Amino acid sequence: MLYSEVASFYSKIESTTKRLEITSILVDMLKRASKDEVGPLAYLTLGKLYPDFVGIEIGLGEKLVERALAKSVGVPLKEVETLYKKTGDLGLVAEQIFKAKAIQQLVQPQPPTVKDVYLTLDKIARSAGGGSQDEKMGWLSGIFGGLTPVGAKYLVRTVMGKLRLGVADMTILDALAEIYAGGDRSLIERAYNLTSDIGQVAESLAESGLEGIKMIKPTPGKPIRPMLAERLKSPEEVLAKLSGKAALEYKYDGERCQAHITHGNVELFSRRLEKITSQFPDVISSIAKHVKASEAIVEGEIVGVDPNTGELMPFQLLMHRRRKYGVEEALEEIPTNIFLFDVMYLNGNDLTQVPYVQRRKALESVVDTSGSVKLATRTLVSDLSTFESFFEEAISDGCEGVMAKDISDASVYQAGARGWLWIKYKRDYKSELADTVDLVIVGAFNGRGKRAGTYGALLLAAYDKAKDEFCTVCKLGSGFSDEELFSLPQKLGDARVERKPARVESLLQPDVWFEPKYVIEVKGAEITLSPIHTAAYGRIKEGAGLAIRFPRTTGKWRTDKAPEDATTTDELVEMYQSQLKKIS
Ligand code: ATP
Repeated sequence: MLYSEVASFYSKIESTTKRLEITSILVDMLKRASKDEVGPLAYLTLGKLYPDFVGIEIGLGEKLVERALAKSVGVPLKEVETLYKKTGDLGLVAEQIFKAKAIQQLVQPQPPTVKDVYLTLDKIARSAGGGSQDEKMGWLSGIFGGLTPVGAKYLVRTVMGKLRLGVADMTILDALAEIYAGGDRSLIERAYNLTSDIGQVAESLAESGLEGIKMIKPTPGKPIRPMLAERLKSPEEVLAKLSGKAALEYKYDGERCQAHITHGNVELFSRRLEKITSQFPDVISSIAKHVKASEAIVEGEIVGVDPNTGELMPFQLLMHRRRKYGVEEALEEIPTNIFLFDVMYLNGNDLTQVPYVQRRKALESVVDTSGSVKLATRTLVSDLSTFESFFEEAISDGCEGVMAKDISDASVYQAGARGWLWIKYKRDYKSELADTVDLVIVGAFNGRGKRAGTYGALLLAAYDKAKDEFCTVCKLGSGFSDEELFSLPQKLGDARVERKPARVESLLQPDVWFEPKYVIEVKGAEITLSPIHTAAYGRIKEGAGLAIRFPRTTGKWRTDKAPEDATTTDELVEMYQSQLKKIS
């Protein structure tokens, strides 16, 4: 099929805004293509050469395209530039000068086919390095010869990354379904969801029809379109929707990530199916080491861990630091964990049709959790109180909420679909605590890495008036300037004691204890229940105290306050309750 013929179909597509009409033009066009042209044609029509995840784009600069045009038509570069300035669309310029040329030219060069165009653009997109601009220009002017004016217009727009016909992947799937499946998109869409590769789907249909498409399975290296969750507002609704029982998993606040493993090589893809391998070298090496499979596609959430407190970090903070310091440096400062929650492909087997309960078992069987690769914490629930306490644990461990998952045999991995097999339930807090709190320093943990020689985090407590005790509420490692951080051992030195002071109540064992003396001002995201802190222990809930989530100091030392003037546990209880009122 000649590229110029394709271009006249593009013209028709551009002349309508009706989706159905576009689909039927695509049907006519794809039917004209030979078997080995259907794949390249599908990509070209989307203005691409490959699916996005491959990361190879055309996008040539306008100067180069101007030169190629001038060269192939034999007009002065100046003329092309002037026309471009006038119209602002190099595609239109190409059309115009090709029209003029066609009148003069007697012998037409060999017109390029779809394949000729595709292969040349591919060569251009892949070539890099010194001197390649001239080479690219030469290759491009080579295929301009023999194009119709309309062909030249669309080729120019394509190479500049500006085709924009308004055709989406789904429109092409519709056209393919029309041609090969009597309009039924389901099997074709499934294949697309498993590979995210429209060209592969088109090619396989052209080669072997629906039978071929049925054989398509997940392939390491090609991202699977992610399964998405529905949302409900209460644990009651969630349980009711899942027939009274479900698996609950922590819903981590991180970056969703698909890890593709092929014989020791690991690639990572984001939720939007972009390759993010280079951003997370730490995740790559730990996956390679701790996922024991020769081939697998697993999915999880990458979360930053505060090296000083060991607690999970809000994702924004991780990304902010990475932008600020660059990946390598931030790696040292903020290690990451990946919490895996699914496996879609394992050692040659497609697991997307296997129920969740078995997928989870398969996942557990290949993950060694001794390093930074973890499994999403989970439990099975069939009653509200277990649901609620698991939810509170998730929040106090730094998560956003929980993900409830269907445990019936119907619970397959629905690639690319949002459905009720997964239901998210999270608390919409997101606000800051309105007020700061003043807390007493009762202990410290030794710093590591950049914080070696000083403390990584301080252990802070609120005052329990009734008991006359200091009960812990958080570990504080954020908000200090470097200077302040390194002056901490000296500054706090006079309060240092050998053993836990009698009036301090703590379940945690810091490296250093302090008698209650210094009071520091702290801001936090919210107050949560926590099994590891002792403030108001058992008052709201058995086996749990209150904690401040994501604490950071304002830098203010409350020297005007005695430790007994610090925020009290009663105040924390009040703050916790008013927070609940705001939420409900
Ligand atoms: P959505 O992904 O549903 O469009 P969104 O991008 O706003 O919405 P959330 O509302 O935060 O995301 O919820 C879904 C996301 O939760 C998933 O895409 C995934 O990244 C994340 N997640 C965290 N923990 C889990 C888990 N255990 N199982 C599944 N997803 C999880």
